[in-house]
Amino acid sequence: MVRNKKNLVPTELGMIVNSLMSEHFENIVDVAFTANMEENLDKIEEGNEDWRSIIGEFYDPFIKTVAEAEEKIGDIEIKDEESDVVCEKCGAMMVYKHGRFGKFLACPSFPKCRNAKPIVKEVGVKCPDCGKEIIEKKSKKGKIFFGCTGYPDCSFTSWDRPTNETCPDCGAMMYEKLTRGNKKYCPICSENKDSRKK
Ligand SMILES: [Zn+2]
Ligand SMILES: [Zn+2]
Ligand SMILES: [Zn+2]
Repeated sequence: MVRNKKNLVPTELGMIVNSLMSEHFENIVDVAFTANMEENLDKIEEGNEDWRSIIGEFYDPFIKTVAEAEEKIGDIEIKDEESDVVCEKCGAMMVYKHGRFGKFLACPSFPKCRNAKPIVKEVGVKCPDCGKEIIEKKSKKGKIFFGCTGYPDCSFTSWDRPTNETCPDCGAMMYEKLTRGNKKYCPICSENKDSRKK
């Protein structure tokens, strides 16, 4: 079904459902069957046919098919996208799940291991206050800011991205403005002393 990259590529689930549909609901999808059913319904309307027998003819095999399909669909496992984050509780590679509040990380060993956590984007810079890893976070209004993984013990936060570069004049950590062309600056030497999030 994959014709080329620009055309629609059906999802794994879509393909499974489609194949199950044609496998199990063949006579329901069948046009001749549908026409026959309409004819039968007409006959019922005209009073020429007992509706119980016609509905029974249709309903009994239909219900059986649904039960069979349900059983098979229940056995299908959709593979979750693997992340490069190791579950610190059991060592498995964590997978991405989609929840009500967006993507998050969950342990594939569920329910044996119930570890789940938000996706953390490490900046690759150590906190200037405590030395722990700095991560990208989102404010309640959805604005990106940077915080310390040592929170709440460490209260370091910044609107600007911390970098591994140090100021040639004073040796302090340089920051990168996310707006204004990612310009790097030193918070101590420049006038941008208010850039640290209050
Ligand atoms: Zn785990
Ligand atoms: Zn810190
Ligand atoms: Zn400086």
